[in-house]
Amino acid sequence: MLVKSASYEKCKYHKSQFDPMEQTLKGTIILGDEFEPVDGYITIENGIIKNIEECKVSTDTIIAPCFVNAHTHIGDSVIKDPPRMPLAELVQPPDGLKHRILKETSHDDLVCSMKATIHDMIKTGTCVFTDFREGGLAGVLALKEALNNSKIAAKIFGRPLDKDMEYLGSCDGTGISSTNDLEIDFMKDIVRQTRKKGKKFAIHAGERDSSDISSAIELEPDLLIHMTHAADNDIKAISEAGIPVSVCMRSNLITGSGFPPVKKMLDEGILVAAGTDNVMLNSVNMFSEMEFLSKTNVFDDRQVFKLCTLNCAKILGLDKELGSIKKGKKAKLMILTKESNNMQGIRNPLSSLVRRARPDDIIGII
Ligand SMILES: [Zn+2]
Repeated sequence: MLVKSASYEKCKYHKSQFDPMEQTLKGTIILGDEFEPVDGYITIENGIIKNIEECKVSTDTIIAPCFVNAHTHIGDSVIKDPPRMPLAELVQPPDGLKHRILKETSHDDLVCSMKATIHDMIKTGTCVFTDFREGGLAGVLALKEALNNSKIAAKIFGRPLDKDMEYLGSCDGTGISSTNDLEIDFMKDIVRQTRKKGKKFAIHAGERDSSDISSAIELEPDLLIHMTHAADNDIKAISEAGIPVSVCMRSNLITGSGFPPVKKMLDEGILVAAGTDNVMLNSVNMFSEMEFLSKTNVFDDRQVFKLCTLNCAKILGLDKELGSIKKGKKAKLMILTKESNNMQGIRNPLSSLVRRARPDDIIGII
């Protein structure tokens, strides 16, 4: 997506346009950590945002930061349409439907299906995803094989296979299904081993009910997933402990888990990010996640966009380089048209981006 700026003389910025190492983009930029739409130019040099110039331009594009998906399980990309059934029967290890199907899946089919999901994420504007990968070391290595040479980064949270924790040497941390699924002493050992390796510990909690919330908080995780059934005192405890939360709105809806108390969590100062969860339940399309969040639960478009970009970058410690459009950050950008049948006539670029934009409005990804 290279847009030459030669015909727009109001910008002083022309000086640099002849440098062959530079790319210049023109559009309505969703700028900075508050995602303020401003018109102007972005100069990119060697993949980094070198300059941003706000000025009056004639433009039919929106330039937005790419998504950072806060929670996925792309290992179940082999299952796209499971029957509606109770959550435990669907996903609980070791005998939930998902785990039975994964046991029967060949390595090649597993990698191939994950590759398709990775391509889908790239095409729909995601630049980083945070994955819970089952299957011990082999599971982590299969995801790395699927990621090979792709234009997307992943933070991988592996899981012990039986009692084997060899996976820890090859990924970013541990991601556990629930404190209800394992012996508490083994859980504590997993946390200890994960910390010893300097990696992060993340765990689902409060998805089906509140029974695993207190025990999960006691493990002092780096990240909690879901917290759909978090009560006010749980939210206070998480806030005081400074633990971030990944919420998965569409997943909670299809599993009948209810609405996560996102606003209460944000009001208590908790860092909340949004994820698409299991590929067998949802597509990895973050536009869809934004639309659901903005229309069912978080009635603040700016917050919704933050949940899908900067907040997860912060959780992953990547916010100095990703998650928003700022000078010096990586140019991980998506360019959308304002002229599609869906977008033509928009007046508020941020609200339109959050509530109605779709992957087919993307005309370029950097
Ligand atoms: Zn999950």
